[in-house]
Parts: sequence; structure tokens; C-alpha cells
Amino acid sequence: MSAWRVERPGPIATRPLRRVTLPIPEPADDEVLIRVRACAVCRTDLHLAEGDLPPHRPGTVPGHEVVGTVERLGAGVSDPVVGDRVGVAWLRRTCGTCRYCRRGAENLCPGSRYTGWDADGGYAEFCVAPAAYVYRLPDGYADDEVAPLLCAGIIGYRALRRCELPPGGRLGVYGFGGSGHLAAQVAIAEGATVHVVTRSRAARELALSLGAASASADGPPPEPLDAAILFAPVGTLVPPALAALDRGGTLAIAGIHLTDIPPLHYAEHLFQERRLCSVTANTREDGRQFLDLARRHRLRVSVTGYPLAEADTALADLAAERFRGAAVLHSTTA
Ligand SMILES: [Zn+2]
Ligand SMILES: [Zn+2]
Repeated sequence: MSAWRVERPGPIATRPLRRVTLPIPEPADDEVLIRVRACAVCRTDLHLAEGDLPPHRPGTVPGHEVVGTVERLGAGVSDPVVGDRVGVAWLRRTCGTCRYCRRGAENLCPGSRYTGWDADGGYAEFCVAPAAYVYRLPDGYADDEVAPLLCAGIIGYRALRRCELPPGGRLGVYGFGGSGHLAAQVAIAEGATVHVVTRSRAARELALSLGAASASADGPPPEPLDAAILFAPVGTLVPPALAALDRGGTLAIAGIHLTDIPPLHYAEHLFQERRLCSVTANTREDGRQFLDLARRHRLRVSVTGYPLAEADTALADLAAERFRGAAVLHSTTA
């Protein structure tokens, strides 16, 4: 099969992804083999390709927003079944026995494994995944529309829950790419007023068309915020985003990687019970809740398609913010 892997992490201009031919993987007893139909491109893939996140194993195939059909079952698998459309996401496995897993916080499991980091992902024609960690997908979305829901959507949803936006509250969204444009729609559907801050003019236009109350290139938003989510991996945005919070507001940082945060000033950025929190992956329950929400509220998913053969171009375009919404790779054999 055709696939891409991270040969040697480095700046995207050095083309760290290499196109290779690999054997079709064999599912373990508790895994399924999936024929990949679409795989969305996440900023985490860029962090892995560029080495911001150190490789967990050499030559791993990235891609953790995978939509495909079950082609073959491992010996111990009865659900899903062959032919089912399923999704594979970032959280690949957890131990199930540690203190975090036992209290429903499997996203914090120290033994967790990740698709496209610890095991080969979806920048390929086929992949394998543990049956207990694949998702059933909502009908009514094409393969390329549902793919970005699997990380951009689920993580955005967890970030929205972590920032504890009160009902009818005012939400700031900093950075408006794959994740931001989905989280904003969920918030708006739930009655929030959403203010978007993003450098990209195309993203600002998209934000307004999706119902954002304002969209600006830089802050502060036109009114104090009850909560905010930082999607852009830019630490210098943390102080202004905290300063834009109203009393008691929370800023959630959605990314897995962030550039350094400048010194904070207690009175200006934190006093009056403002809070700063991170978002670490997601639980399967977050994924199920979000996909169920996507089933009930038809989300508009902004997609820019690329053939699988152009995965490196898609990553370079993500680095340069050359498209809006989410990039999605299409397998040529699909
Ligand atoms: Zn665990
Ligand atoms: Zn991701």
C-alpha cells in the first residue's frame, strides 16, 4: 500500500514526510483492518513532522482523523463488523486500570498510546486500530466532512467543556482553523455569543458566516468574555486572552504544543478568579458525546481536499495557513 511516514523530523520546508510503499498491516486479535477513505490533517501532524513532539518510534505513519470501512477483523473482534464505516482518532489505547482510567479520565492515562505517534495512522491506504477505540460515525456527513470531527471536532468539544462557558455566555475563540470552526458552531448551537480572533481574513469571513458575533485580526474582543479557548499554538496570546476574561472566566488551551508563555501579571491576568487550564487529548466518552451532538446538529465542516499523494503539500499549506477549515486527504483507491 501507499503511505507517508515521518523519516526525519525537521522544518516543513525540508519535506520531513517521505512517501513509501508498505505491506498492508495485519490486525492483532483485538484490532480491525480499515480501508482508509479519508484522513484529515491535524496541526499535531505538523508538530510530529517538525519535531516539536519527539518521535515515539521511527518512521511512523501520521494521521489520526481517519474515516474508513472495516475490511477484516482480528480473531477476538465481534464489533464493529466488516463493511462498517468507522473513525479512528488520536487516543489509541489506554491501560484501563490506572487511577485516571478508573475515575473516567482515560485521557490522562500515563500508559496511553496515540494513533500516528505510537502506531501507524491514516496517511495510508490501510491502517489497523483497536476495535474498542474506533467510533461509529454520524450519517449525513460525507467521509471528508466527518474526518475532521475526529480530532479537530472532539478536542474542540472537550476544550469547550473545559472552559466552563456558562449557558448563554460570551466565548472567545482564538485561532479559527479545523478545531475552532467546529467548537464555535457547537457553542453557538448551545446559545453562546462567540467572538473570534484570528489573523486569517478567510477564517474571519468563515467565522461571521457561521454566526460569530465578531471576528477580528487581533483583540481585545468587543465585550468581556466568560470563557475563551486558545486554538492557535501561540503562547504570546495567553496574556491578552486572560486579560479579555471577565471575573471568574476560564481560558482553556486546546493544543498539545504551545510556544512559551510570557510572564503573567497577577492583577491583570489572573486575579478575580480567572483560571487557565490545558486540554489533554480526550476520553472516548467525549468522542461519543461530540459525535452524537454532530448527529443532532448538522455542523458545517469547511474542508479543503488533497489526494493522498499530496500529503506533504497539505502539511506545508497548514503551516502557511493557506486554506481555511480543515485539510483532508483522500485515498486514491477509495
Ligand atoms: Zn490508564
Ligand atoms: Zn489531532
